Amino acid sequence: MPFIVCKFGGSSLAAGDRFLRVRDIIRSDPSRRAIVVSAPGRRDAKDEKITDLLIRYFETGDEALWRAAETRFLEIGETIGADAAPLLQETREAILRKSSAAFAAGRGEYLSARLLARLLGFRFVDAMDCVRFTEGGTLDRAATRREMLHCLCGEPFVLPGFYGADAARRAFVFPRGGGDITGALVAANLGADVYENWTDVDGVYDRDPAVDPRARRQRRLTYDQMESLAAAGANVLHPDSLRPAREESIPVHVRSSFLPRASGTWIT
Ligand code: ASP
Repeated sequence: MPFIVCKFGGSSLAAGDRFLRVRDIIRSDPSRRAIVVSAPGRRDAKDEKITDLLIRYFETGDEALWRAAETRFLEIGETIGADAAPLLQETREAILRKSSAAFAAGRGEYLSARLLARLLGFRFVDAMDCVRFTEGGTLDRAATRREMLHCLCGEPFVLPGFYGADAARRAFVFPRGGGDITGALVAANLGADVYENWTDVDGVYDRDPAVDPRARRQRRLTYDQMESLAAAGANVLHPDSLRPAREESIPVHVRSSFLPRASGTWIT
């Protein structure tokens, strides 16, 4: 059976009904056994991303920001039939105790992964245990590879994207949008047949479809072409996520969780 690593972005997990849609996508193909997730993103233009709420909560201590994040997760829990309240209380206490901006920023991914793992019946693996940063906060690729091979083989799992830790378990995060990098590292280190990157657009366009009606979806791109589009501002994939996939020649398939039958864009 082929082995597919899936990364679901924040818009794909922004609310409880979207978690259910993601569950259905994963269950529709038993090859999808390695799942990497973002924190819930915006449900609509007026909404805030959970990551932004958590960063501001850490910076200001404003409890209204925590309550806004909590309300989002309680709704997700309720929709998927899980009581998220104890997990939320534990998480808030951990944020206050650890007093680390990076730790707080990554808690949206942590909660997303805990809830999705419960919904799927997959095991949860904490990125603190397998995405390794140096003391200076840069990615340690060799140690990450070693830890991923140790922690991620075997049963299907859900792993939070975006954060990791150094050897002393101090949290670090990738740049914003960096859940894609975690997904690509998993795909490269575990030798996936495909790295599926699920987002809210049905593929990569040659220009921004939101502003230019002449934009056309690209069915296939080379890694080089995708790098040029990313450098020119196409933000569908984090630019740093291409390198690990490219080095191991792993095909990247950009797809929309809102249109799961659409053919998306293949980057090879
Ligand atoms: N949640 C993080 C962000 O909003 C990382 C990600 O979504 O990939 O930037």
